[in-house]
Amino acid sequence: MAKRGSAKSPTRKTPKARARKYVYFFGKGKADGNRSMKDQLGGKGAGLAEMTNAGLPVPPGFTIASQVCSIYNRQARIPAAIEREIDEHLKRLEKAAGATLGSADNPLLVSVRSGAKFSMPGMMDTILNLGLNDDAAEGLKRRTGNERFAYDSYRRFVQMFGNVVLEIPKEEFEHEFEGVKKGRRASLDTDLDGRALREVVDRYKGVVQRRAGRPFPQEPREQLTMARDAVFRSWMNPRAREYRRIYHIPDDIGTAVNVQMMVFGNTGERSATGVGFTRNPASGKKEFYGEFLINAQGEDVVAGIRTPQPIRQLAEVMPNAYKQLRDITTRLERHYRDVQDFEFTIQDEQLFMLQTRSGKRTGYAAVVIATDLVAEKLITPKEAILLVDPESLIQLMALGFDPDEWRKIPAATRGLPASPGAASGQVVFSADDAVIWTQRGQPVVLVRRETTPDDIRGMFVSQGILTATGGMTSHAAVVGRQMGRPAVVGAGELEIDERAKRFTVNGKTVKEGDFISFDGLSGEVKIARVASKPSEILQVVAGTLDPKRSDIYQRFDKLLGWADRYRRLEVRANADLPDQAEIAHAFGARGVGLCRTEHMFFGEGRIPIVQRMILANSEADRRKALDELMPLQRQDFYGILKAMNGAPVTIRMIDPPLHEFLPRREELMVEVARLEITDPQSPALAGKRRMLQRVEQLHEFNPMLGHRGVRLGITYPEITEMQTRAIVEAACQLTKEGVKVAPEIMIPLVGDVRELRDQKAVVDRVADETMKQHGVRIKYLVGSMIEVPRGALTAGQIATEAQFFSFGTNDLTQMTYGFSRDDIGKFLRIYQERSILDRDPFTTLDTDGVGAIIRFGVERGRKARPGLKIGICGEHGGDPASIHFFEQVGLDYVSCSPYRVPIARLAAAQAALSVKVGD
Ligand code: PEP
Ligand code: MG
Repeated sequence: MAKRGSAKSPTRKTPKARARKYVYFFGKGKADGNRSMKDQLGGKGAGLAEMTNAGLPVPPGFTIASQVCSIYNRQARIPAAIEREIDEHLKRLEKAAGATLGSADNPLLVSVRSGAKFSMPGMMDTILNLGLNDDAAEGLKRRTGNERFAYDSYRRFVQMFGNVVLEIPKEEFEHEFEGVKKGRRASLDTDLDGRALREVVDRYKGVVQRRAGRPFPQEPREQLTMARDAVFRSWMNPRAREYRRIYHIPDDIGTAVNVQMMVFGNTGERSATGVGFTRNPASGKKEFYGEFLINAQGEDVVAGIRTPQPIRQLAEVMPNAYKQLRDITTRLERHYRDVQDFEFTIQDEQLFMLQTRSGKRTGYAAVVIATDLVAEKLITPKEAILLVDPESLIQLMALGFDPDEWRKIPAATRGLPASPGAASGQVVFSADDAVIWTQRGQPVVLVRRETTPDDIRGMFVSQGILTATGGMTSHAAVVGRQMGRPAVVGAGELEIDERAKRFTVNGKTVKEGDFISFDGLSGEVKIARVASKPSEILQVVAGTLDPKRSDIYQRFDKLLGWADRYRRLEVRANADLPDQAEIAHAFGARGVGLCRTEHMFFGEGRIPIVQRMILANSEADRRKALDELMPLQRQDFYGILKAMNGAPVTIRMIDPPLHEFLPRREELMVEVARLEITDPQSPALAGKRRMLQRVEQLHEFNPMLGHRGVRLGITYPEITEMQTRAIVEAACQLTKEGVKVAPEIMIPLVGDVRELRDQKAVVDRVADETMKQHGVRIKYLVGSMIEVPRGALTAGQIATEAQFFSFGTNDLTQMTYGFSRDDIGKFLRIYQERSILDRDPFTTLDTDGVGAIIRFGVERGRKARPGLKIGICGEHGGDPASIHFFEQVGLDYVSCSPYRVPIARLAAAQAALSVKVGD
């Protein structure tokens, strides 16, 4: 067996090379991994490896790869080979640390921390001070001569372990802690001495025995295994899953686990722990930003238990450590060429770096930082494009308060401005209430002493989040910024009684349901409902603010200008009315990809005419009503074509089933019954009865698959004629006025080339007549929507008639999946919870199914008509992930709602640069 196969055989590998590596060491200036290995090491592990390699002061440790998490969650155990690999690395760590896990004389203590590829702040679990037991705590006390420190560390460990691993509610421990504090008349945890903390540990151990039915585990290797597995399990906890659902993070990538030698920020007044950013993550300003706590451990800062001090004050208390921290973080920012979010601990004035990663930031800050980094020549414009999440641009367009209204109301209090934006709504005190009230259509502001990761859903639905404790990096602040929800945190004057559902502030009481408002940029909180106002960007777009007076508009414009340089896809807008087309143009849309003409039918005074058209008994009557509609439609087309100034405007012929323009059947029945009883002579009664009769005639069991789209044009060609005439007359008129026009007439819901041929003949005939009448020749195209699967499957035939294609991915998704676009809400959530669907397919394109059909349609269409112009006008046209797909399949343009045009421009540039969304 020993020498099977030749040693030279190219396929033969040594057993060692074949075994996969699952554990990566870092320490003493050298790491097995590096920054490019986030898939294996997670963000934290990759950052620790990179910092170690750069010679920064990082305590040694090792990272267990994310893939092990997936194995564990599948098999509920870790294979023996990986256990051995962990043991080897533990030995290596003990050597590097010069201490031994479980030793009574010189115990090694470690942290066990989660860290996935995408940061999920606070969603998963962490355990600090692992390795402590009764002997090691005594050993630590002897070695450091610091009883308080030893037992403070031990009590933290028992609590974290008890809560995370043994799943004992935190309150059980907090209750005991408060009991000891009360007994000693202490108000802060730092007021307790070593003896008191020893008592806390004893009480905690009692809690463990009572609640877990077993003593607190004293064997450190067992502690490590249990903690590691608990961290892996926390990947699947409900809040982490909810977070992944919101941020579209795949469930199967798992989290890495970092086991790292502890350094202590809680050894006394010369120690501290803190977090920070190299620039302000809320405003983007270039300022060193963060906070710290003296004599504390990392979790205290983010948990919002004590309000930390601003980082500038560190310069006063520990100038050397502060200077070193500034130097290191500046180097890190230059190295990564992006804002860094870092964690550090100072142990007896010695600085250690515990984390660095790209800092999460608001959309506002993202634009400021990207443009600043280019100005500072740290990055190129191309790199700047990749630094901004397209979706976050929506925050720049969010509402602000009207300054005059805002000034009128006195501030009730002020907190830390953690996430910008104007929030106004009714106060609720729990995340669950936030969800319930919002479902009832009430805007809410979530007020909490501090938020926890369990509050994530409630935070997501709220207008804003207001907390009484916590700093700029507390959970509420971090998550608020990331979600783009306004947040004010650490408003210490609030006295919140969450049980009684009220708070008081400076003598005023606010109850659940009362309105409050706050400004996430200034931190001011007011007890009132305050009207909001469009953002600066929207004001510039609306022409009410001079762009030169808005710094943020100029940066926004610059960034999008860079994006335009790199994108291949054109960006158009879905605009039904002239004012929408104007906004879209101002946002940079060059063309309209979809004008839903029927939306014009809902314009003022038009519905009765449309109803007359539908109720007509003869073609002649129908034509009469259509003649009335024609000038109104012409006027709209005139406005849209003018706003687009020569850029193509795709106008779709009528699409929805006609009953949508009539009152609802049930309402009419009630109305008729009421009149029959109360006023049988009423002249309105006959009309209502006729209407009801027509509604009943038009009733369809499945209107989405019924008499709509091209089928309407075929059965009532006079509608197609009227719409064609309105378009061509508007175009002729503009041409006479010297304005360039490029109308594209689009036939919806085509599944068979013969349908298109029928309608194209009508359009061409009427266009020709109209142009002759006006003595003007205009260029126009006639094309087809591709939104019925059969249309895509026979795209080769359809392209012989169609001069362009536009994928209607709303209907195409509906008909490919067979999910009703109006009813998917009933089961979508359950599908997502069961991981049957990751995303709503009506928001983000299902590339495997619907995408395959699109790909096929593009290939066949272009084969039949080389150079065929193809776009997309479904909702997916404004979704960054879908835009990546449209880039790949070589569409010519995407079309989306006017407000999403900036998002699409940026996403199209990122897609052209081939960067995966979220990477
Ligand atoms: C579509 O189906 O994608 C489309 C754009 O048309 P509508 O949404 O109007 O059906
Ligand atoms: Mg459609």
